[in-house]
Amino acid sequence: MRLVLVGPPGAGKGTQAEFVAAMLAVPKISTGDIFRANVGRGTPLGVTAKRYMDAGRLVPDEVTINMVADRLADSDAVYGFLLDGFPRTTPQAIALDELLCSRETKLDVVLELVIEEDEVIRRLSGRRTCRGCGKIWHIEFDPPRATDQCDRCGGVLFQRDDDRAATIAERLRVYDRDTAPLTDYYGAQGRLVGIDGTGPVEDVTARTGDALRSYLG
Ligand code: AMP
Repeated sequence: MRLVLVGPPGAGKGTQAEFVAAMLAVPKISTGDIFRANVGRGTPLGVTAKRYMDAGRLVPDEVTINMVADRLADSDAVYGFLLDGFPRTTPQAIALDELLCSRETKLDVVLELVIEEDEVIRRLSGRRTCRGCGKIWHIEFDPPRATDQCDRCGGVLFQRDDDRAATIAERLRVYDRDTAPLTDYYGAQGRLVGIDGTGPVEDVTARTGDALRSYLG
């Protein structure tokens, strides 16, 4: 199975991606995670990506497409994958189709998490990440016992630069302009399955599972 998961920032793509990847036994490939790992290691790719990420903008297509093409060439992705956060622009979607076509394969399904903008803002602005183990908490929906400390590992919690209010507004603007048109692109291919992304995580996960089971028949 080759899948793509799209949806605005804060729609819960990361959580649903974990679930779907485990359900279908395919690797989860998150471009945001790969960029963040490179930022953490201070690689040239990370230095380039950080400039865009901190401003709430997209890393240029050429950089992102090459990175994904490399990752999809790894042996674990040969028979299937779930892409989380890629593609995010029409040129990226076209490049992915071309890449898969050159390997005589294609995408099976594109899952779209659908959620209102004010819900996205509440979710993102309350998000805190642990410096120690990377676990994501939420000051409103999943608060740790102490405000700035991770219950799991005791690490210090921080707010990602791209989760700050001004950056969130920019990320949403970029989503509407560059990424939302992908629903037309994949809709026209008949591959798009919409999932209501509102409400508690367990409900969204249940809907995702149902949508996949009915799509797979
Ligand atoms: P995410 O964790 O998916 O929200 O990604 C965090 C940031 O990484 C985004 O705000 C972008 O700056 C960058 N990024 C992730 N995926 C892509 C992509 N497919 N194209 C361009 N930039 C991306």
